[in-house]
Amino acid sequence: KVRVRFAPSPTGPLHIGGVRTALFNYLFAKKHGGDFILRIEDTDQNRYVEGAEQYIVDALNWCGIPFDEGVDKEGGFGPYRQSERKDLYRQYADELISNGKAYYAFDTSEKLDFHRKDHEANGKTFIYNWHNRLKLTNSLSLPAEEVQAKLDAGEDYVIRFKSPQDEKLVLTDIIRGEIHIDTNILDDKVLFKSDGMPTYHLANIVDDHLMEISHVIRGEEWLPSLALHQQLYDAFGWNAPQFAHLPLIMKPVGKGKLSKRDGEKLGFPVFPLSWNESKGYREEGYFPEAVVNFLAMLGWNPGTEQELFSLSELVDTFSLERVNKSGARFDPDKTKWYNQQYLQERGDEELATLFSSELNDKEILFLAKNGDWLKKVVSLIKERATFVSDFWGLSDYFFVAPTTYNEKASRKHWKEGTPEILNQLVSVLESISDFSSENVETQVKLWITEKELSFGKVMPLLRLVIVGDMKGPHIFDILEMIGKEESIQRIQTAIE
Ligand code: GLU
Repeated sequence: KVRVRFAPSPTGPLHIGGVRTALFNYLFAKKHGGDFILRIEDTDQNRYVEGAEQYIVDALNWCGIPFDEGVDKEGGFGPYRQSERKDLYRQYADELISNGKAYYAFDTSEKLDFHRKDHEANGKTFIYNWHNRLKLTNSLSLPAEEVQAKLDAGEDYVIRFKSPQDEKLVLTDIIRGEIHIDTNILDDKVLFKSDGMPTYHLANIVDDHLMEISHVIRGEEWLPSLALHQQLYDAFGWNAPQFAHLPLIMKPVGKGKLSKRDGEKLGFPVFPLSWNESKGYREEGYFPEAVVNFLAMLGWNPGTEQELFSLSELVDTFSLERVNKSGARFDPDKTKWYNQQYLQERGDEELATLFSSELNDKEILFLAKNGDWLKKVVSLIKERATFVSDFWGLSDYFFVAPTTYNEKASRKHWKEGTPEILNQLVSVLESISDFSSENVETQVKLWITEKELSFGKVMPLLRLVIVGDMKGPHIFDILEMIGKEESIQRIQTAIE
């Protein structure tokens, strides 16, 4: 059975890289009728951030990719918080000690620093492995009694993995194929610390094994750990899950990967973790469906021209084989484009509701309080909008009369005879009782023709005095929406 996990450390808000990892796990699980598990990797107490765990749960729910099993959702493999599994890891570290795959090391940080600097001074990289072990204070270079004495005396130690000498490892990754690693470049990584806590490496593979994870899908930044992880599975005699490392997300321009610092401007977190943090996708007005859709395209492609996918279409189409090896460039404009597409698909009713709460925030008094009126405004302007927050800038003249007039347009269209023409127009409008867009259009055009005025002169002028600018939808739709009285009022204001 397919069982995958998203295993974040609760160290802050989720950024797009993390959410993409969660999404790809979700899609893969659902595609194969499997389970998507949320495991909280909180063994590093120094980096723990209050509220971050709940945030992760909320963020996945907001995106519409809930987990099947995980914190507060028992599925028979819990607890799902590593801090609550603490007692379990020690025995696995001990098992590796007793079968000779791991050992105690008593080096102080001063001593490690000294060796590191010494190597650097000679132009070499310090690697804690067979090459250096004899120079260091560990159970592989000390007599057994001395090791025991140190342990009895309560000296600080760590447990390290004993990486082999002169071996060639062949690792397999679903996305990258075979990867060849020379073990001589590998460090003896720390598995367990004297504070009683496992490191990420040990806890991660023990849990993946115990939770019967079938596929590990995670970011490329974990690829360098794959050799150790594969060796740990081998050392325990366990079958390793299959691995798939997702490509890095790159900056929109230039080199390098998108960092959390860029994130402030480019890739937001899903939403802020606390009041004093920058905004998130939710605050920017993104729809969850748009976020999910653009994230799916970051490093994956369907092999067709199709760009818009609902979540269930993604589930049907997704495969790890179509995930790219090379970095995926994050494109903020494309991200916006997705939102624009999803906004067009939203019903006018829903958009009007979202808009009206913005209007309330702005304390705008409606010309007409009726919901259909607002819906109509939305339907007239939404095709130019990317976010609901664009609505106001595109439709303010429906709500309030212009206070200024576009200068360039005024110079062009306001002539000596203009007030006289506008006065006539007021009379025409006054005489109309059916103020529907079509009827007003017919009557105004009739007047223009009868008086032998030019359409090219009157129409821009009308738009200018009603809207204050040359923007907006069909002018007679605007007249109908603001009504007879307001239309006449705006023309008179312009004449004065
Ligand atoms: N806790 C790791 C992280 O924060 C999990 C890496 C993995 O998926 O193995 O990304």
